[in-house]
Amino acid sequence: MDLGLLLHALIPSSTSVAILAAFFTYLAIVGPILPGKVVPGVILQDGSRLHYRCNGLLSLLLLVALLGMAAKMDYISPTVISDRGLELLSATFVFSCIVNLVLYAAGCKSRNQGSSLKPHLTGNLIHDWWYGIQLNPQCMGIDLKFFFVRAGMMGWLIINLSVLARSIQDATLSRSMILYQLFSLLYILDYFFYEEYMTSTWDIIAERLGFMLVFGDLVWIPFGFSVQGWWLLNNKPELTTASVIANCFVFLIGYLVFRGANKQKHLFKKNPKAPIWGRPPKVIGGKLLASGFWGVARHCNYLGDLLLALSFSLPCGISSPIPYFYPIYLLILLIWRERRDEARCATKYKEVWAEYCKLVPWRILPYFY
Ligand code: NDP
Repeated sequence: MDLGLLLHALIPSSTSVAILAAFFTYLAIVGPILPGKVVPGVILQDGSRLHYRCNGLLSLLLLVALLGMAAKMDYISPTVISDRGLELLSATFVFSCIVNLVLYAAGCKSRNQGSSLKPHLTGNLIHDWWYGIQLNPQCMGIDLKFFFVRAGMMGWLIINLSVLARSIQDATLSRSMILYQLFSLLYILDYFFYEEYMTSTWDIIAERLGFMLVFGDLVWIPFGFSVQGWWLLNNKPELTTASVIANCFVFLIGYLVFRGANKQKHLFKKNPKAPIWGRPPKVIGGKLLASGFWGVARHCNYLGDLLLALSFSLPCGISSPIPYFYPIYLLILLIWRERRDEARCATKYKEVWAEYCKLVPWRILPYFY
């Protein structure tokens, strides 16, 4: 595609603005009304606690059903998103900049001293813009951080489904596309099935809402993580049966480690005496779990996520680095994140953390890192 055409394809049309508006309006409406378990968040510094309605799975299934019906009745084209990928990308980018501008202005003006809304201003414009000013900003009773990550994960699936529809219409559906679609579908469904676990993750409990998260959730997740699907629309790598089996194996191992580790930590936080792998847990200083996956490496959950990311790209073969965008990005992100998390834990847990590091010396991959 030449530069002129590319720039033209990036200009948002009224259709792409309407798609985005409809998507966010749908999420804002169903979030507070659909049934779902209401989960208390972590206790914040001032003793307060937010509550999250975990109805993401139901919201997603309803959305897919509604879109399926609308496509069947010819109200919308199932390929509308894959046909307008670039303009949707730029429209979402502009939207995320506007959202962040509003968050920045609201954060600067806020006089609230509660943990959720207390402004954290360093005076460094770039730092405050990137990391954000408030921990849990709300809009009309909606927790924006939880809302945006949900929008990003759902957007990823909706893009994938539209790419799949385009590939079926073009009669280019391949084994690779089926594998990529299947793995990412399982990952996204699993995310929403265990949405409650999200409430105790670093993003929700420790990260303020700034451009890093807004852009990451709204643009990076749906458009960046779906690169393999877009790439497979124009490329058809040959996959042997052995490589398909190996690919499934990487996915399965990745899933068991990722979900197992996150589940163990979540259960431990709820009940520090709950058995881990059928045995009483090894606990350091009454606070840190040092058995199960958390006795193998201090961020074993990152290892599982990295294997999963790799399994989404392996169906594309090794002829191009483009489909490996997601695992490479995730590797960099998780190493950076693990360093920041370790610094936070060292400050929070002091000698207990030092003891944990001595007992479990590996950060992510045992005997390697
Ligand atoms: P973790 O779930 O690892 O949470 C880190 C926190 O857990 C620490 O700050 C500490 O918090 C607590 N903790 C750490 N070690 C222990 C221990 N041994 N025992 C008890 N508590 C402990 O990190 P994230 O929130 O970063 O990640 C959650 C999941 O999300 C991961 O699987 C990650 O791979 C995934 N992820 C995916 C991304 C993607 O783009 N695909 C991006 C980022 C994350 P506390 O103060 O509460 O004790």
